[in-house]
Amino acid sequence: MAASYPPEVTPAEGDRLTEVAKDWALAHGLTVRPPPAIISAEADPVGILSTAVPVTLFPSPFPKVCFDQGVAVQRAYNELYASISQDEDFLAHIVKEIGDSDTFITELWKVHLRVKAEGYVQPKSLGLFRSDYMVHQDHAGSTPQIKQVEFNTIAASFGGLSSQTSLLHKYLASTEYPLLENSIKHGSLKLPPNHSASGLASGIHQAFIEYGPSVTGNQKCVIFLVQDGERNVFDQRHIEYELQQSQEPSIPVFRLPFSQTLEHTNTVDGPGRQLLYRPPQLPNHTFEVAVIYMRCGYGPDDYPDKSAWEARYHLERSAAIKCPTVLTQVAGTKKVQQVLATPETPSNPSVLGRYMSTDAASISNLTSTFTNIYPLDETEAGLKARKLATDPELCKAYVLKPQREGGGNNIYRSAIPQFLKTVPEAHWPSYILMELITPPPIKNTILRTGKLEHGGVICELGIYGTCIWDQNTKEISHNEQAGYLLRTKGDQSEEGGVAAGFGCMDSCTLV
Ligand code: ADP
Ligand code: MG
Ligand code: MG
Repeated sequence: MAASYPPEVTPAEGDRLTEVAKDWALAHGLTVRPPPAIISAEADPVGILSTAVPVTLFPSPFPKVCFDQGVAVQRAYNELYASISQDEDFLAHIVKEIGDSDTFITELWKVHLRVKAEGYVQPKSLGLFRSDYMVHQDHAGSTPQIKQVEFNTIAASFGGLSSQTSLLHKYLASTEYPLLENSIKHGSLKLPPNHSASGLASGIHQAFIEYGPSVTGNQKCVIFLVQDGERNVFDQRHIEYELQQSQEPSIPVFRLPFSQTLEHTNTVDGPGRQLLYRPPQLPNHTFEVAVIYMRCGYGPDDYPDKSAWEARYHLERSAAIKCPTVLTQVAGTKKVQQVLATPETPSNPSVLGRYMSTDAASISNLTSTFTNIYPLDETEAGLKARKLATDPELCKAYVLKPQREGGGNNIYRSAIPQFLKTVPEAHWPSYILMELITPPPIKNTILRTGKLEHGGVICELGIYGTCIWDQNTKEISHNEQAGYLLRTKGDQSEEGGVAAGFGCMDSCTLV
């Protein structure tokens, strides 16, 4: 490896790498639909254009011990979140703690209660999870370890693009890096294989099989439930293509905009409540939906009116295997993460043991990834957190999070006290306060919309997991680790979302 890695490149080398990387990205679908600022909707009404996603020129160095730690703990995390999803009483308590001020979570829970009243007909659940981490080091020279940023249970994205990003860097490592002035010898980077797209697809495939044979006599299908105007389409398509390839003849897969759910699907009257889908472009076909993979429905914007909530209820009560169910979505709230991470005290027994009582080693592997997270309620921990969050100095080490997904929702550092002044105190318990993780500094070059940005970066590792379980028997029939994501952002930016425009795709070279 070069003396200083990643190397700085000369302007001419930068031009060369830009050309090679962007063409590889376009040729291999490491792409998104262009944002309106680049191509207006009027200029491309049918959506025939795509653009390369922002990506680092080099795989970022990532400590091998940390990478291994994340991979090793993923199946235990899958099991933990499958178990939490089965504990309705615990989740009901969580929803109560979040309180009425969060109308999104309240509405979501109502969907569950309505279906529970009539009885669920599908005991199986599919989880396509992603656990996100940053590297933490107590002090220079100490062994780095990963600390969890959050655990995603709905619409965890970039698994389709991430395996492609790993391939791009592998390609550059064998073709371009050896030619640089600061040459990186072929074979000197340690690039872990990354099967995120096929790994996620195989989770869906397994659920498709476990659904069992069609009951209505129609061919079975999988639905990718998506947002209107989704730009991150190719990320989803890579998973779809892997899924279709997983058997012969291939599985029918359809992209259904959430807003069109009620128009194009119905449930069979009677105890089975099978979900039928009629693709609008194929009027002679009706499919029985085995699996619904949601890449939407995670935030209030997806529910603009009452009919969107009816659509969610309609899907939830059907026999299709949901990824995720409402219960699993609620299990993924930051409030759950906080309750799990809140240390054991006499008045607050650790909840973790309840879910993983059989394996003490797994529990300690999990808890070693936790960082300090506090409630903002009136418990002892909550009162301490309120002091931290409202203090103009102490707040600088924290991030305040509402129960939201998809990036752009958090309040950072010095902005916290001011923000809390605008929130009635009765609503504070719907937030959690989390210690900021500050990874050791590294540098890289980001290629974004054809331009290079060199400087300090912060990396966030995501490990994917797939899990299928039975809510009634509590049996876990499938539990796998499914590749990784490395997302990188400039160190001046608080948020790291690629889709939200803050971060970029990256891969690891293990150090
Ligand atoms: P979301 O569900 O919206 O993705 P996250 O909890 O992942 O919410 O927060 C969004 C981003 O904020 C993360 O990707 C990360 O860049 C940053 N962030 C969140 N929590 C922390 C933390 N404890 N330390 C450092 N950065 C954080
Ligand atoms: Mg999230
Ligand atoms: Mg996140």
